[in-house]
Amino acid sequence: MKYDYLIVGAGLYGAVFARQMMDRGKKVLVIDKREHIAGNVYTEKIEGINFHKYGAHIFHTNNTEVWNYVNRFAVFNRFTNSPVANYKGELYSLPFNMYTFNKMWGVTTPEQASAIIEEQKKEITGEPKNLEEQAISLVGRDIYEKLIKGYTEKQWGRDCKDLPAFIIKRLPVRLVFDNNYFNALYQGIPVGGYTKMVENMLKGAEVKLGVDYLEDKERYDSMAEKVVFTGAIDAYFGYSLGYLEYRSVRFENEIMDIPNFQGNAAVNYTDRETPWTRIIEHKWFEFGKDEQGNDLPKTIISREYSSEWKPGDEPYYPVNDEKNGKLYEKYKKLAQAEKNVIFGGRLGEYKYYDMDQVIAAALERCLKE
Ligand code: UDP
Repeated sequence: MKYDYLIVGAGLYGAVFARQMMDRGKKVLVIDKREHIAGNVYTEKIEGINFHKYGAHIFHTNNTEVWNYVNRFAVFNRFTNSPVANYKGELYSLPFNMYTFNKMWGVTTPEQASAIIEEQKKEITGEPKNLEEQAISLVGRDIYEKLIKGYTEKQWGRDCKDLPAFIIKRLPVRLVFDNNYFNALYQGIPVGGYTKMVENMLKGAEVKLGVDYLEDKERYDSMAEKVVFTGAIDAYFGYSLGYLEYRSVRFENEIMDIPNFQGNAAVNYTDRETPWTRIIEHKWFEFGKDEQGNDLPKTIISREYSSEWKPGDEPYYPVNDEKNGKLYEKYKKLAQAEKNVIFGGRLGEYKYYDMDQVIAAALERCLKE
């Protein structure tokens, strides 16, 4: 056989797997059905701005090994994610911290903020059973109603009572003045864009773009000893057990002839009525400057709309509720019985992975090879 590994998908999981195997002297072929590498972290340069085509990606991790690993392929800038929430024209700092509590209740000390939250939390007794209860038991009803409920229901297309509690645990709550969204030791954006970083990972690999593995599976399978599949696990099995649910995202992009639209990379629209979930202004991921440090005259914004995935759309987020969890377990059994195929990544493992977790998972999987 010509290759040791056929890697289906040139996103982070596939690129890391390819890199590790090439470093061990293995021969790999990486294919992707899109016309570009880097999967959903793909960036392209428009008007001098690295445009995050499939939505905002902000690298953050507590894992030193992963941080050192990505730094082999890119220099990271000092970007810190501090999104702003817009609730019917009122602006609040995210994540929930003293600035948020000051704006919400006029409180000025942690003690005052804490007293209000503690009072409002009392509504929930016992272990939170769903996202709504989890949210209220973290920050109380006021914050839940203004900053969580609308946004979450738009993003997931489901009532907060029907969503798993763990989703909201991503959001930190703190009684200090700190707008840094992520509780992470390391954070930043690769200078020059993610595409360049993934290109560096894939250096030396044979890459074929615009080809659909599942349409020509037998031929591709015959080319390599093993297959690494990073597409959707249910698609691999022809949806034979039924469809797993995903959320998809649609972007309305606009190039504007002004230097500054919203003064921040991300503004979340947390009310229910505004149809988009957030607006990303891409230039602020790199401080509004080009690589020479010049101010960029124009700006690009993306309004982000969340939708239920249907065949033909790009899947973005697995819906990790009970029903889908059960169906995934069945697919996983099929996957385990599949000889010489490794399923990996957000779609291959049907898991709401962050970028660093995907990289960690790929590195770990490689150790087992
Ligand atoms: N969330 C929220 N209000 C916000 C931002 C986030 O309620 O303003 C909740 C929401 O339930 C969402 C989860 O936190 O699904 C994770 O959001 P995040 O923006 O971190 O997810 P991403 O889309 O960036 O992966």
